[in-house]
Amino acid sequence: MEKIVALCKRRGFIFPSSEIYGGVGSTYDYGHYGVLLKNNVKAAWWRAMVGERDDIVALDSAIIQHPKTWEASGHLAGFTDPLVDCRKCGHRFRADHLADLACPEKPSKHPGEAENCSLTESRDFNLMFETTAGPVKDSGATVYLRPETAQGIFVNFKNVLQFARKKPPFGIAQVGKSFRNEITPGNFVFRTREFEQMEMEFFVPPADAGQWFAHWIAERERWYLELGIRADHLRLRPHEPDELSHYSSATSDIEYLFPASSSPEPGRWSELEGIANRGDFDLTAHSQHSGEKLEYFDQPTGERYVPHVIEPAAGADRATLAFMVDAYDEEQLEGGPRTVLRLHPALAPIKVAVLPLLRKDGHPELAREVYAGLRRRMQTEYDDGGSIGKRYRRHDEIGTPWCVTIDHASLSDGTVTVRERDSLDQRRVAIDALAPELERRLTEPWRTPKPAGSAR
Ligand code: ATP
Repeated sequence: MEKIVALCKRRGFIFPSSEIYGGVGSTYDYGHYGVLLKNNVKAAWWRAMVGERDDIVALDSAIIQHPKTWEASGHLAGFTDPLVDCRKCGHRFRADHLADLACPEKPSKHPGEAENCSLTESRDFNLMFETTAGPVKDSGATVYLRPETAQGIFVNFKNVLQFARKKPPFGIAQVGKSFRNEITPGNFVFRTREFEQMEMEFFVPPADAGQWFAHWIAERERWYLELGIRADHLRLRPHEPDELSHYSSATSDIEYLFPASSSPEPGRWSELEGIANRGDFDLTAHSQHSGEKLEYFDQPTGERYVPHVIEPAAGADRATLAFMVDAYDEEQLEGGPRTVLRLHPALAPIKVAVLPLLRKDGHPELAREVYAGLRRRMQTEYDDGGSIGKRYRRHDEIGTPWCVTIDHASLSDGTVTVRERDSLDQRRVAIDALAPELERRLTEPWRTPKPAGSAR
C-alpha cells in the first residue's frame, strides 16, 4: 500500500488535501491522472448499469435533502458506530475495529491492550455531518450532508415511475458524493469522510426479489473481474444474520484482498461493494413519513404493491484504489527494474502516448500531427520530455497501454512504432491505420497478463 500511495503522489493521481496548510486528515484530492482514472471507473459503471441495459435509468439528486428523509430512513436514529475514547491519550476508536487498529502510542499493540490505554465504555456516535441551511441558525434549519446516495433515489421513486415510463423490474442509478463522519478514517482513500458512491436501486415484484438478488451479485462480481481484478483477490461474503442492517433481509459483500500496510503482514479482505435485499423497507418508510403512496399499480392485473428493492452499492474511490492495487507490478527487465500499472485499457487514464524520438529533425512536427489525429478519438498525451526509455517508464507507471514513437523511418515511410505496455511488443503501424487499430485494441476483450495473486 505504501508503494501505491507513493506512486499516487509521485505521478499526481491522489494527494493529501489542503497540503499547504498541513492537511486536514484523511481527505484527499485527485490530480489529473487520478481524475481520469476515477472518471473511467465511474463511466464503466454507468455503461454496465445504464448504457448496456434498458431497464435502468439515471438520477442525480441533491446532496442536501429534507431532514425528514433521514428520519424515515433510520439514519437519524441508527446510523451510528460504537465509539470509545482513551482517557489517557485522548484518541478515539471504533469499538468494533479495536482488534484491527494499532495503538497510536504503542503501535505494536491494539488499543486496549497497551498498558497506557484506559478505554471508556462504548457509546453510539452518529456519522452524519450536520449543518445549517440559510442564514438563521434555528432547529428548523438543521440539515445533513447525505451519508449515502440511495435515499435520493427512494424519495424520487414516484417521479421516476411517472416520467421514465418503467414498470418493475426496473432500476434507478446514481453516482455522487456522500459524507460520513467516520471515527477512524484511514488506509488512504479506502475510508474517508467524503467519498463517491455508485448505487443502484432495483425495484422488483416482491416474489422475484430472491432471484434478482442472485442476479445482481453475479453481475457485480463479473464487472470487477472483466475490468481486470484477479479472481483470487475477490470474494463474496454473505452477511451473518446478526450483522445485517435494519433494512436488509440479506446482504452479500464483494470483498477485495487488500495488501496489508506493512508487507510482512498477511493481507486483509475488505468490502468494495455491498449487495442488499432491502425488501420494502425504504418505500414503506418514506410513504409513512411523507404521506405519499409509493407503490406500483399494475393495470393489466389490477395488482397494487410496494416493490422490493435490490441494491448494489459500490464506492468509486474504493474501486479505483482496488483497480490500482491489483494492477501494480514491479519487474526486472534487461535495462533495469520497471514499475507498471497493468490497468485494463478501458480504465487507463491515458490510452496512448505520442513520443517523438528526437526533439528535432522533423520528429516533433509529425508527432504533433499524429497526436492531433488521435486525441479527438481517445485520451492521448504528447510527451517529449527526457530519453525515450524514461518516457516509456513514466507511461508504464501511469498505466498507458500504448506508446507511439515517431522516428526517422516515420518521416519516409509513414509508419510509427506502437509499443505495448504489458508484452513490451513493438510493431510498426501505418499512421493512417493507427487510430482504427488502437480503437480496435481498446474494444477487444482484455485478458489480464497479471500473474495469479501471491499470498498477501
Ligand atoms: P464499511 O463497512 O466499510 O464502513 P458500509 O457497509 O458502511 O462500509 P455501505 O453503506 O454499504 O458501506 O456503502 C456502500 C459502499 O460505499 C461501500 O461498499 C464502500 O465501497 C463505499 N463507502 C462506504 N463508506 C465509505 C468511506 N467512508 N470511504 C470510502 N468509501 C466508502
